[in-house]
Amino acid sequence: MNRLSGLVVLGAALLCGGCKDESAKATSHSKPLPTYTLKHTPDFCGENAYVHCAELCKLGPRPSGSEAYEKQLQYITRHLEQHGWAVRRHSFTSPHGVKMTNLHAMFVKEEAPSSELLLTCHIDTKINVSDDFVGADDGASGAAVLMELARLLSGTEHAHRIELVFFDGEEAVAERMTETDGLYGSKYDVERRGDNLPRYMINLDMVGARNKTIQVPLFDSSPELVDAYLETIKELKLNENKWTITDQEYWDDDRYFREAGVATINLICDFVGSIWWHTPRDNMSRICPKSLQESGMVTQALIQRILNKQ
Ligand SMILES: [Zn+2]
Repeated sequence: MNRLSGLVVLGAALLCGGCKDESAKATSHSKPLPTYTLKHTPDFCGENAYVHCAELCKLGPRPSGSEAYEKQLQYITRHLEQHGWAVRRHSFTSPHGVKMTNLHAMFVKEEAPSSELLLTCHIDTKINVSDDFVGADDGASGAAVLMELARLLSGTEHAHRIELVFFDGEEAVAERMTETDGLYGSKYDVERRGDNLPRYMINLDMVGARNKTIQVPLFDSSPELVDAYLETIKELKLNENKWTITDQEYWDDDRYFREAGVATINLICDFVGSIWWHTPRDNMSRICPKSLQESGMVTQALIQRILNKQ
């Protein structure tokens, strides 16, 4: 993901909502991190999402084409199939010769041309950062939320209208994203679909850090979905200073879908200027179950608001 110009946050001071769980106390890998086991709960469980995030991070750096990326695909696939999703891979070779693979999950056995709503994230981690860079927030957190949502959506009427997509190649090879470097997986996917595009797309990127501030890019998102997002935040009585909109422009995996006419929204945290982004500090000590839980609840409520209108 790339940020293009100056920053304006519509909202008041950035207050700490606070994660009151044990992970909030951990500030580095040198301190013990909490461990949880997967539970069958009726609602979105932040601890379940935390487990998935931690399992992905245990694989180490997961750049496109790596062995760890393949193991990550296998972990996500196992979970999705356990919950009844039909999983498919779409692979391609990037312009710089790397095999990339997007993972798709639908709740129908026959692959439909395109679903009504895409729920997306990216699962590649930035290449050449360091051997201990695990991309806990920038990569794993979005996938963790989608995996827990996959459990809850399983067998529901909405599941038949949703496609989960885990994109490869979001990250640029060079330090910063350019018009020709980055968003490889989502760009490939738009082209692959041709005219069979979804109506809606919700993209999640960096949604698991404690005390995060989500900034939905106002002008890069569909007005209909921004309205639905703002109504959702009110409905869930979340802190409106932590769930904001911004006039900042972003390049992210929603970009080429939006340009092709899909109504998109990107849930992404304020990260620019941070000391952790694309560094080894983006590890599990930054992640908290409550933060993942809020992101999951917002996404779930947003899905219901969008699909119940139709
Ligand atoms: Zn990144």
